[in-house]
Amino acid sequence: MPRVFIKTYGCQMNERDSEQVALMLMARGYEMTETERDADVVLLNTCSVRDMAEQKAIGKMGMMSKLRERRPHMVFGFLGCMAQSRGAELVRDLGHVDLVVGTQKFHRVADYVDEVFARRAQGSMDDPRFSIVDTEEESGSQETIRDHVLDPGQVTAFVSIMQGCNMHCTFCIVPSTRGAERSRGIGEIVQEVRGLAERGVREVTLLGQIVNLYARHEFPVRDGKSPFVQLLEAVHEVEGIERIRFTSPHPIGYKEDLILAFTRLPKLVEHVHLPLQSGSAPILKAMHRTYTPDKYLDLVARIRAARPDIAITTDAIVGFPGETDADYEATRELMREVRFDNAFIFRYSQRRDTPAASLPGQVDEATKEARNQDLLGVVNEIARERNAEMVGTTQEILCEGPSKTNADRLMGRTRTNKIVIFDGEPGSIGRLLDMRIARATGFSLYGEPAIPE
Ligand code: SF4
Repeated sequence: MPRVFIKTYGCQMNERDSEQVALMLMARGYEMTETERDADVVLLNTCSVRDMAEQKAIGKMGMMSKLRERRPHMVFGFLGCMAQSRGAELVRDLGHVDLVVGTQKFHRVADYVDEVFARRAQGSMDDPRFSIVDTEEESGSQETIRDHVLDPGQVTAFVSIMQGCNMHCTFCIVPSTRGAERSRGIGEIVQEVRGLAERGVREVTLLGQIVNLYARHEFPVRDGKSPFVQLLEAVHEVEGIERIRFTSPHPIGYKEDLILAFTRLPKLVEHVHLPLQSGSAPILKAMHRTYTPDKYLDLVARIRAARPDIAITTDAIVGFPGETDADYEATRELMREVRFDNAFIFRYSQRRDTPAASLPGQVDEATKEARNQDLLGVVNEIARERNAEMVGTTQEILCEGPSKTNADRLMGRTRTNKIVIFDGEPGSIGRLLDMRIARATGFSLYGEPAIPE
């Protein structure tokens, strides 16, 4: 059977989409392989959030034209966000590309791969430029990312609950690559989660570009609860599921009903991701982020008042157009004030068709890099301090499997989403265990079974 290699760039949503594509191909008899070297079909599921991610995928595809010379039957395709934003241009620029499939058409990939092979079998190699480009919108496509390939013993899974985003942050290409907000029904999501629980999954992470604004235009608020909180309650009822996470949210989606949910839904873990982006009011305004630093700090205070032990992580962008030293300093100060458990720092990347790309005051790369390194230093120092503070505490962990750095040891995650490494038996995989945190080295926590009091 033809073998397929899928390489995924970017976020968890892309990982989920690739998983669905793999499953649909396997259902038709294709086999998956770990490398392009023995593949008959190579699919790159792309990311457009930063220019570097696009260049990596284009570079990789370019290098693979050599494989086509040796194995002319091979099929090459781009999927996902860059496929959506660049479309037919990719076929024009890279002559060996057969498929370009956008973000609302993942469920058609297997059909299209079959079609390319069929055309070739019929001898249409006389049409060497035959290719398929499909970047159309399709209503209901958000319902098609719903099946899972689980590894033996896998106890965590991602569940895609919505697609797209209407927020139009001025730096972000996602609204144009993923389209307008479209949410799945609560019933369908719960059914998917039930199926996962029956297959041994204990922890689900609900996924969406603005996950906590799920279905805000589609389903009504009931009893003061947003559609997202209604969904959390419904998933909370699923037997076998022990933990619920969600990513990636928007700060404005943390209304009182969601904050309250952290106090009354025990399966909702003590971790929130609160993308800050900038600590400067004028920059937030230019980003169209619809909150101020003061409102953000107030939100952090309210969340911590509701769940004092909650971990908070964030994203920040340095070098947004017009960012002065004083603006950057405001971000740095806010990071120090909140003391995030972890933060992802990004250098601003000019994206085509986004309002920020044409703003005056573009910041030079050297300044972006200097701010990036400086802020990373702040973030890492605080993350280390926070880890050190955990030594001696007892944490519930969900054991996920062997440690990635030492297969003789096991790893699990705390409810606050920190990785703990420990010695244990394979029988522990999939179980919730109480661990005493014995030591912390840099970013790693090491645990030993807690002795019950
Ligand atoms: S909310 Fe997130 S996905 Fe939506 S436009 Fe802003 S950064 Fe992009």
